[in-house]
Amino acid sequence: MWTGLKARLLAIGGISLTGLPADEYIARSRAGPGAGGSGSVFFSMDGHRVRLGISEGSPARLHHSGLGKVLLSIDGEEYSGVLEKPGFHCPRQAYITITSSCIFDCRYCNVPRLPGYRKDIDEIERMVASVLPDIDAISLTSGILTDAGEEEQYTLEVVKRLGSFNLPIGVSIYPVPGTPERLHGAGVAEVKFNLETATPALFEEMCPGLSRTGIIDALSASVPLFGRDHVYSNIILGLGETDGEMLECIEELCIRGIIPVIRPLTPGGTLTGFQRPDAGRLLPIHAGLMDALERNGLNMANALTMCPACTGCDLIPGRD
Ligand code: SF4
Repeated sequence: MWTGLKARLLAIGGISLTGLPADEYIARSRAGPGAGGSGSVFFSMDGHRVRLGISEGSPARLHHSGLGKVLLSIDGEEYSGVLEKPGFHCPRQAYITITSSCIFDCRYCNVPRLPGYRKDIDEIERMVASVLPDIDAISLTSGILTDAGEEEQYTLEVVKRLGSFNLPIGVSIYPVPGTPERLHGAGVAEVKFNLETATPALFEEMCPGLSRTGIIDALSASVPLFGRDHVYSNIILGLGETDGEMLECIEELCIRGIIPVIRPLTPGGTLTGFQRPDAGRLLPIHAGLMDALERNGLNMANALTMCPACTGCDLIPGRD
């Protein structure tokens, strides 16, 4: 039941939030789907979680009756659940964007259009300390302030400082040659280098100036370092790929020991005219991912950090 309900919610993408004020449950993000939007909430039911952007006109509604208790109404059905408090960005994690601007201009991304700045390391350390002991992991992501090599060096400094918290650290940045080895040497537990597109042609169209081959090389080099189940790559569903192309991409990654995180498109950046994929597309792709993971001996339930541990935005085999 949950998988179908979550697929419908992900397809709608947003929720109208009514009832008592729920400010303490609202996450406002500078990364991930909805970056720069009016915030989102994490609806949780029976140990499952979905992140929902707040959108006044949504056909789905969450009514807050206080203390995080909510009633979800969708398609004439009602479900009781709770709102989870975000740590930073998502529940149970300090998921921090180091640099909230970027020199690249990927077509689906809002970050280049947002005013950005780089957090200093003391600020990041204070942010993590402020959500202890309510987190199980630290996750770091970043745009690129000046160049990718410099961004990695700064990220390594951040990782070194945060090591004293003794929590697993996940890092998602744009890799350059040697990035996996250096992150591993600094004590990072998991990496996520995002391929974003199912095919090379779409990558060229959507991510001008970035190297798909470089990302695949970094992912492949990461598997023996971080271990199977700890190397991830987000792939956006809804950029114009066919189901066959998406399933082929999933297979190619799983064979290499890399776990794809299939992310339904949130139309943004210059793609505001695009549609979110509907539940009728999300569910078979989810089934294909489950099958590919199983055949290749991969298990997303072992994730410690970042999106596969959060599960808010995607259907995650082993957790949903
Ligand atoms: S799944 Fe990833 S992008 Fe979505 S809320 Fe969780 S951590 Fe953020």
